[in-house]
Amino acid sequence: MPLPSSVDVAIIGAGAAGLGAAHALAGSGLSVIVLEARNRLGGRAWTVQASPEVTFDVGCGWLHSADKNSFVTIATQLGFELNKDLPPWRERAYGNAFPQELRDDFMRAMDAFYERLWQAARTGKDEPASRSLEPGNRWNPMIDAVSTYINGCELKDMSTLDWDAYEDTNLNWRVRRGYGALIAAYGAPCPVALDCKVTLIDHSGKRIRVETSQGSLVADKVIVTAPTNLIADETIRFSPPLPSKVDAAAGLPLGVDDKVTLALEGAEAFPREGNLRGATMRTEMGTYHIRPFGQPCIEGFFGGSFARALEDAGEGAIAAHAISEIAGFLGNDIRRKLKPLYESRWAHDPFARGSYSHALPGHAGDRAVLAVPLDGRLFFAGEATSPELFTTAHGARDSGERAAREVLATIGRQPSH
Ligand SMILES: Cc1cc2nc3c(=O)[nH]c(=O)nc-3n(C[C@H](O)[C@H](O)[C@H](O)COP(=O)(O)OP(=O)(O)OC[C@H]3O[C@@H](n4cnc5c(N)ncnc54)[C@H](O)[C@@H]3O)c2cc1C
Repeated sequence: MPLPSSVDVAIIGAGAAGLGAAHALAGSGLSVIVLEARNRLGGRAWTVQASPEVTFDVGCGWLHSADKNSFVTIATQLGFELNKDLPPWRERAYGNAFPQELRDDFMRAMDAFYERLWQAARTGKDEPASRSLEPGNRWNPMIDAVSTYINGCELKDMSTLDWDAYEDTNLNWRVRRGYGALIAAYGAPCPVALDCKVTLIDHSGKRIRVETSQGSLVADKVIVTAPTNLIADETIRFSPPLPSKVDAAAGLPLGVDDKVTLALEGAEAFPREGNLRGATMRTEMGTYHIRPFGQPCIEGFFGGSFARALEDAGEGAIAAHAISEIAGFLGNDIRRKLKPLYESRWAHDPFARGSYSHALPGHAGDRAVLAVPLDGRLFFAGEATSPELFTTAHGARDSGERAAREVLATIGRQPSH
């Protein structure tokens, strides 16, 4: 929709958080506009049709904590079919790349690491999570690889208290048509101006002036949901400056996680929902999901500095690496059966600059600092502001709803639904 010149509430970003805020303000009588830099809804939630047979979530795919996830009810309301199959990382690994005895040994090392991390968090000291590794343990590199998948960063860059604060009920569901497609459908009724990049939030005057690539508008309240890296880099500037917000955002950088999907010829010979990874003694490794939803493809997942390095190597590097690694596990014959379909490059995405936020050691408290409203006029949402559901799409959505409630409270109102 076109840019209005004046609104009650401007929401920056049409990801899960911004759309959650817009929904919570619908019916309030307030005029609202969501300003979105991209030409689509969803932000880091994005489903593409990678081939006629393969639907691919480039960003979020799993409805974590499904028994508490607000998108489960939304999916049901919007007629999106949910898939409740167990995630592949719980299954026995396919092939001989990671035999059961080694896998059991690794799981024991992983559990012992979690126990030490939990104990370390009880001390209240916010140390790097790498301090909870057992010195010399052979599984340390692979435990670090798991951190890159979960946190987007290696353990040395991960706050112990932040990791401990994350809440998950370990029930993970999926949406057959794609999590990104669900979030886009959820946002469809919201008033959004697309291709509208915000550059400045001037809160020096009586009303707030928002400068965008389509001109400027004034608003009484602004909800900022842009990813932390863009706030920390001051891609979106505040005037007067807000050093406390910029510093908090810098303490919560987005790590890197990337996904690739490869078409798999002769897919029937491979298990549905299989897991493939190698018991390699290094952190630079992918983890693979064979035939998600039974589709003829293999999905790869990479994290941390390795994902960043693959992105830096240029387009196609993730797919090329994935094919080589899979050939190392299953033999060279598989090469001719695999064809790159789609790969993400989230660190290079100008409106994300990474995948999801983690607190640096010593910065677990920054989530609360970023979330706090200013002056009854500036409000902050987005996954990074969630106290315990950070990194997730449902945590982002709920944070938007929380910011909308804060807006309504300043004018003595309750959400209408
Ligand atoms: C590879 C990957 C896998 C993931 N897997 C999962 C998963 O399985 N489960 C899960 O729950 N979560 C997962 N996530 C995380 C989840 O996608 C995010 O936490 C969530 O989508 C973030 O929502 P948000 O609204 O906070 O931010 P965003 O979705 O980033 O929304 C912010 C919006 O602001 C816009 N914007 C940025 N700058 C400007 C500007 N200057 N002006 C206007 N608009 C701007 C952006 O374009 C974007 O649309 C994954 C993410 C990635 C990248």
